[in-house]
Amino acid sequence: MDINLKELLPEEVEELQRNVFTTTLENVKAWARSNSLWPMTFGLACCAIEMMGTGAPHYDLDRFGSFFRASPRQSDVMIVAGTVTKKMGPLLRRLYDQMPEPKWVIAMGSCATAGGPYVKSYSVVKGVDQIVPVDVYIPGCPPNPAALIYGIHKLQEKIRYEAGTGKRVTSLDPR
Ligand code: SF4
Repeated sequence: MDINLKELLPEEVEELQRNVFTTTLENVKAWARSNSLWPMTFGLACCAIEMMGTGAPHYDLDRFGSFFRASPRQSDVMIVAGTVTKKMGPLLRRLYDQMPEPKWVIAMGSCATAGGPYVKSYSVVKGVDQIVPVDVYIPGCPPNPAALIYGIHKLQEKIRYEAGTGKRVTSLDPR
């Protein structure tokens, strides 16, 4: 039904503007996805303890719609929490490949971001973005649960922004 706003009373126009909004299907999907992120349980080192604390009752990550899953098939976020060794790299990539699209990656802590205190070690990957595309980096050694929740909020904003612009931006894009 078409409504001609010029035929309505001012209070009816105001009522309509308060109660009716339009959007796109992509924006609705992004809103739903960003509020039901399911991270894969994937702790690698000390940062994983803080990640576990984020899911415990005090910080209660569930209230943001995020539930840790034990299978990559049921997950859409990989939180890389800890030191990535060169031996672990191919397995991390395989798990990432097993996650369905759309999917996102959070690099939690200085090890996952850039090698951390082990940056000079022959056996450590100097940033997980050498293996998978990273959407959000969280600094710290380790970042506390509040920092991880902040990073998840940033990812939610990114998902909604990308739906609005139709453009996906990751660490693998040219800078
Ligand atoms: S960033 Fe620090 S706390 Fe996190 S895994 Fe590395 S050494 Fe451990």
